[in-house]
Amino acid sequence: MSSCPVPTLTPMEAVEAKSVLPRGWKADLSNPLQLDLQPAVLELLRRTTSRLPQDVIESIVAGRNAEAEGSRGANTMDTMIENIVLADEHVAPLCQDTGTVIFWVRHPFGVSQRKLKEQIRAAVAEATGKSWLRPNCVAALSGKNPGNNMDPFGETHPVIHFEEWDQSGIEITVMLKGGGCENVGAQYRLPDAAIGAGRDLKGIRKCIIDAVVKAQGQGCSPGILGVCVGGDRVVSYERSKEILLRKVGSTNPNATLDALEKQLTQELNTLGIGPMGYGGKTTVLDVFIEELWRHPASFFVSISYMCWSSRRMTLSIGTNGNAEYR
Ligand code: SF4
Repeated sequence: MSSCPVPTLTPMEAVEAKSVLPRGWKADLSNPLQLDLQPAVLELLRRTTSRLPQDVIESIVAGRNAEAEGSRGANTMDTMIENIVLADEHVAPLCQDTGTVIFWVRHPFGVSQRKLKEQIRAAVAEATGKSWLRPNCVAALSGKNPGNNMDPFGETHPVIHFEEWDQSGIEITVMLKGGGCENVGAQYRLPDAAIGAGRDLKGIRKCIIDAVVKAQGQGCSPGILGVCVGGDRVVSYERSKEILLRKVGSTNPNATLDALEKQLTQELNTLGIGPMGYGGKTTVLDVFIEELWRHPASFFVSISYMCWSSRRMTLSIGTNGNAEYR
């Protein structure tokens, strides 16, 4: 069987040469009131929409090489890899669905969240105008689309989570979360008699398998699963999404959950669902599980499903003011 190599993406010098950040741009963190991160966030969006993280690419290639030569699974993943290379080469969106745009911002004391929010929203609107993002924000009932990815109340899109930290730099992470994969997320309340799931690791495993079986043919597999056990309904779902920021193949510091993650990744890949539900050995690329504290009466298992087009990137601005993307 011929194996597919990990593709070589555009060298970083070429990516940086196309940057929309003015040459020599620096953020002045000593003057938080004058801070303007809009250009740096615009560049973050340009890179995120067109370039998959290396760990995701490598896991897709490994999945492709696990499929039988000439099978629908292998052919589907060959197309994904071709897609990855073309999007990167042309700085074009990797998928027509550029997702819900979700940010996590960590900043030092003294930075105005209100101003940062304005700058991030302006960058999203500008990226939409450049067609790096599809206008994906519509009114729930009428479907009315403002065309710029802005909900007029500034509450639901883009989604921005803020956290003050004790470091002096700023970190902005973005995830583009596709609508198809969002639709197949699920939340279970244990015990769940319908699937025979109790409040233990076996019950959690049943929830995860049930969610993946129900998602088959939807959500653009191979998927990456973010699973949060505990919390209230809202925090549980929020964390299940945030842990999708972990690198594929990374180790969970909780040895019990790490073992369950590895077991489930292997088991889910025996279901035969395969890439895009066409059958095959690669149904998931990884499973990430986290445990939170909970109310004694409640036991939630929240599952966020990320498609193969797992676009995420972090912008770091250190005390020297330089923007770094990783
Ligand atoms: S679920 Fe993901 S791969 Fe599928 S259409 Fe949406 S963004 Fe694209």
